[in-house]
Amino acid sequence: MIRVSGGRIEIRVRKIPKPFPKNVYATTIWPFVFYEPQVWDDVCVQKHERYHWIDQIRWLVIPWLIVYLLLSLKYGGGRNHPFEKRAYAIQNDCIESSSKHAPKS
Ligand SMILES: [Zn+2]
Repeated sequence: MIRVSGGRIEIRVRKIPKPFPKNVYATTIWPFVFYEPQVWDDVCVQKHERYHWIDQIRWLVIPWLIVYLLLSLKYGGGRNHPFEKRAYAIQNDCIESSSKHAPKS
């Protein structure tokens, strides 16, 4: 399944392939964003990936990927990676603000 959203070409895939780690469910390689089915409709993951998408336009995609991979040798691919910090902050803000609207139990 493919959708186009704000210039992004978003593609639903069964599995994000190697060399991405197993716990990666979505990834952006400008102008494409790939999602596994369980996060395809996750607004907060979409915001996370949109941040990378804009960042890659800013950096141009090849230098972005090279710098990303080099930094991931030191910081790993998770939340400590300098390119991920802001993306996760956006995702967390989104989760917090959507849980505010969720029914209280
Ligand atoms: Zn990310």
